[in-house]
Amino acid sequence: MQLSKSAALHARAEEAADVLRALSQGEVDAIVRSDPSGHSIFTIEGAEHSYSLMVEMMSEGAATLTMDGTIIYCNPSFAKLVKGDREHIIGARMHRFLLAKGIERFDALMRHAVREPAQDVIDLLLPDGSVAITHVALAIVGVGGNQNFIQVVTNLSELTRAESARGNLARIVEASQVGIIVQDLNGIVTSCNRGAEAIYGYTQDEIVGRPISILRPADRKEDLVALVARGARGDDVLHYEAVHMRKGGRRIDADLTVVPLRDENGAIVGASTIIYDISERKRAEEQVWQMANYDFLTKLANRGVFVETLGQAIARARRSNRSFGVLYLDIDHFKDVNDTLGHPIGDLLLQGFAERLRASIRATDTAARFGGDEFAVTQADIREPADAAVLANKLLKVLSEPFVIQGNEIRTGTSIGIAVYGSDSPDAEALLSHADVALFRAKSEGRATYRFFTDAMDSEVRKRVTMVAELRQAIASGELFLVYQPQVDIRNGAIVGLEALVRWRHPTRGVVFPDEFVPIAEMSGLIVKLGSWVLHEACRQMKVWLDAGTSPPLIAVNVSGMQFKSSAQLEDEIATVLAETGLPPSRLELELTESVLMETSIQHNDVLIRLRKAGIRIAIDDFGNGYSSLDYLRRFPVDRIKIAQNFILELTSNPSNAMIVKAAIGLAHELGLFVVVEGVETAEQVALIESWGCHQVQGYRFSKPLLLPEITALLRIGKIVPLSA
Ligand code: C2E
Ligand code: MG
Ligand code: MG
Repeated sequence: MQLSKSAALHARAEEAADVLRALSQGEVDAIVRSDPSGHSIFTIEGAEHSYSLMVEMMSEGAATLTMDGTIIYCNPSFAKLVKGDREHIIGARMHRFLLAKGIERFDALMRHAVREPAQDVIDLLLPDGSVAITHVALAIVGVGGNQNFIQVVTNLSELTRAESARGNLARIVEASQVGIIVQDLNGIVTSCNRGAEAIYGYTQDEIVGRPISILRPADRKEDLVALVARGARGDDVLHYEAVHMRKGGRRIDADLTVVPLRDENGAIVGASTIIYDISERKRAEEQVWQMANYDFLTKLANRGVFVETLGQAIARARRSNRSFGVLYLDIDHFKDVNDTLGHPIGDLLLQGFAERLRASIRATDTAARFGGDEFAVTQADIREPADAAVLANKLLKVLSEPFVIQGNEIRTGTSIGIAVYGSDSPDAEALLSHADVALFRAKSEGRATYRFFTDAMDSEVRKRVTMVAELRQAIASGELFLVYQPQVDIRNGAIVGLEALVRWRHPTRGVVFPDEFVPIAEMSGLIVKLGSWVLHEACRQMKVWLDAGTSPPLIAVNVSGMQFKSSAQLEDEIATVLAETGLPPSRLELELTESVLMETSIQHNDVLIRLRKAGIRIAIDDFGNGYSSLDYLRRFPVDRIKIAQNFILELTSNPSNAMIVKAAIGLAHELGLFVVVEGVETAEQVALIESWGCHQVQGYRFSKPLLLPEITALLRIGKIVPLSA
């Protein structure tokens, strides 16, 4: 600022100095010199000369005319006004710059000025053909034959233009369809135009003085005040779209341009927001988008969108190591409906079908219509193929219910082909074609059913699905039972505990072992029910022995990871079971595997702490399996570790196993934990374990898991002595 001002002054002064020199033709005492900072400094002697200089520097045009109007002197502003240079102007008559009508007025003005200073508004004709409206003031100077006019000309055109421009702008702003709202820094509206009134439905009186946020739905965070503050960091004009609200609550899509308003120091004092109501455009865009992406009849996604969704699902599955299913559906004999009942009814059937489809899937799944009677569904985030089969079964059931359309009861079957995302399905199109092949098989193998893409998957899944159904039934109808395996003190054969182990008496297959059905129960979620049955049964039975005076110190129950994940429920359940059966908490031990503990978050750790506070014991089952992290012993509040069976298998032949078991026993004892060694089958193993200072074992060496009558009999004796001892 400082610099440019002085530069301008400098230039001006230099120019003036040149002129002065020319004017005075050497008679003027003008000293031109520069000060150290480069500013030119004038010293002019004599008032006359200083007036001359003043005239030179005026922004108004000034000239000296002879009595007939010939210009004998003009200042730079006059030359600029008439768009000429002084060499050519001086010597010309004023009349050269006047139109016919102007000549009359100018001559009259000259006549008037002879008597007294006079002025008039006169149009000047400029060399480029344009007209300048000017204010001309004339006065006569000098005496006798040495009289001249002096003339001052002010260009009114520029002033009027600026003035009227300002007025017009205000009128345009006021009348504009575009909304304009001005707010101060507190977000209070200080003015608005008619456009804003129309857009928002408020009158100026209603909106001025109120916070601008009344234009924004309550659920929207966007805040103009904050935006303005952000704009304060630069000169940026903010431009964005937002949902705003009309008086009365109707939503409008607004295109907003926020211009920060600044004071003369550049500080932001408010903002002016320019608003376009783009609701109509948005609606139209939305419609076009709907048409391009959704099936007109059913409002489901179309094939294009579906394939896109599949692409995203693949990307997600790759990242998360999860899978998803693609179900391809086809209405059996749909053509017959069209042929016999007509297309309008066929259309309604498709809509009804789509409606049921939509209602049967989760929010994260996508349903689409590919055209005709072909539909597809992605099933997000499945753990295993059987999950897809569960959905397929559900859809088959829901879609087989009759549709009642205009008095017609229509029953249709549906065929479903399933492909599950895996390593052999690289992209969306491949997955779809797999599902299509599977659909073909479902149709050719009798319709109203589902098929998987691969045979292996098909039979595996079928087996699983059947087993889940059977297991659910088994829990309800009492096919599960418990066996009990004693834990023994090696030194005297005393029974120090029992582990409850579940069995399934299958109606056709005989007794099924937990290795076969517990994983399936876990995957299907049935484990929660199963686990709760086991817990209840074990506690109930333990109380019976307790009352009979034959009970061992404690009973151990296995708890699966799935149960523990809903730990709040588990806590409640344990409390209820203990209350119902009357078993003291100190008699119950929960066995958790390392993998469960691995997934145990802080929150679950709290559950462990609470359970222990309640007097229940916690054991780590299968210790050393897989993770072998001794760190668990420190991190989690446990009472006992159960050293995994696979370490014991090779105890005598594999020295490193022996080392690990020995170290684990030592460490556990140091931490004050009990240790029980599982799967002990031989006398050598017993001897080794005892030599390391561990006295508790559970294994065939002492007893297999026993049925209720056997274990009840054994408990009456209270101790077991192995045969060879
Ligand atoms: P686990 O909790 O580690 O149970 C010990 C398993 O080792 C039992 O098999 C038991 O019969 C077997 N076993 C004990 N001593 C010996 C031995 O000296 N030699 C050999 N070869 N095996 C021995 P089971 O009953 O088949 O149970 C297998 C697994 O199934 C259990 O392992 C446990 O993880 C799970 N399980 C059993 N019942 C339940 C239950 O009620 N709930 C849950 N969630 N899981 C259970
Ligand atoms: Mg166990
Ligand atoms: Mg175990």
